[in-house]
Amino acid sequence: MLTFPIYLDNHSTTRVDPIVFEAMKPYFTEIYGNAASKSHEFGWKAEAAVEGSRKKIAELLGAEKNEIIFTSGATESINLALKGISQYYKSKKNKIITSPTEHRATLDVCKSLAKAGFEIVFLHVDKYGMIDLDELRKSIDDKTILVSLMLANNEIGNIFPVEEIGKICSEKGVYFHSDCTQGVGKIPVNVNEMNLDLMSFNAHKIYGPKGIGALYINSKSKVKLVPQIDGGGHERGLRSGTLNVPAIVGYAKAIELSIRNLDSESVRIRGLRDRLHDSLKTNIENIYLNGHPENRLYNNLNIAFEGVNADLLMMSMKDIAVSSGSACSSASPEPSHVLKAIGLREDLIKSSIRFGLGRFNTEEEIDYVIEKYAENVKKFRK
Ligand code: PLP
Repeated sequence: MLTFPIYLDNHSTTRVDPIVFEAMKPYFTEIYGNAASKSHEFGWKAEAAVEGSRKKIAELLGAEKNEIIFTSGATESINLALKGISQYYKSKKNKIITSPTEHRATLDVCKSLAKAGFEIVFLHVDKYGMIDLDELRKSIDDKTILVSLMLANNEIGNIFPVEEIGKICSEKGVYFHSDCTQGVGKIPVNVNEMNLDLMSFNAHKIYGPKGIGALYINSKSKVKLVPQIDGGGHERGLRSGTLNVPAIVGYAKAIELSIRNLDSESVRIRGLRDRLHDSLKTNIENIYLNGHPENRLYNNLNIAFEGVNADLLMMSMKDIAVSSGSACSSASPEPSHVLKAIGLREDLIKSSIRFGLGRFNTEEEIDYVIEKYAENVKKFRK
């Protein structure tokens, strides 16, 4: 039986998995101590939960426990990584290399660093949103502090070759940060194989709670950061503030579930995504896929419905939750900067819809979506 509305906006956020919620519950009402309270059992238990979660997250990503710093989410992690490193090395170097298809969390931080005098270099992207590694190689010079490139794009789902990027950065002797928010739990991530110095990621994209994330800081690379939040000295002085214990427990559980089930989940959801794509193509003329046809997240489908306004189309089907533009990256929706950067025609940008499939979607839901879209796109075109 179908229940409405159908949620297909899993790049924006996800439903907390009931298993994750169960794991979190005792930490609201029973084990509610402050993890920084050293003088009693409430604090010790909270600290044990935090450190156990930190260890679990680290192990699942090939990291060491002391390399994980908890934050309020990927936006904060990216701020700490990019501002922290730039401020630390500013007397020696001033250049940061990134791409125009990054999440607004990266682009807006770069904007603020540019105002503070840093040079920001944007690599070109092709029509699939992919960068040219030779251009990256040539752009790195002795003024470059850092390269920041995401693993998987939150709008069009294309996947950057992070391992190769990491290799180039380490050969050239510059630091590499990757926003892996859409990738962790969906693509195998091992920080060592990826040559990462810094990695930002969060819980709410993988069926964990909102408001919790982490920054991985490679201890071998000896990268230094200026803290962006002072007070209390939590998280080795890099991020002060009382830790959100229930969210941290949920975060670890969410990553564990996603990584353990990655193989089966990716096959199942890719199947649903392909069913949706194939049927939309069969039933509706003149629709175009945005992003790379193969090298993309298994749960992403971004489609331009030529001649149809995406916002009006969405509003005509309020029982199906999708997004146009980038609802997840911005509180003030504007035409997608990602679709602009890949050179999509303006009318097609306004016709584009992002479907983000997830763990709780069923075949029945997908078939309903196909039917409704075929019907409504035809109606709009008439
Ligand atoms: N980076 C990417 C690729 C995202 O998709 C998001 C989601 O909004 C963020 C960063 C920001 O994450 P958060 O909501 O945890 O701040």
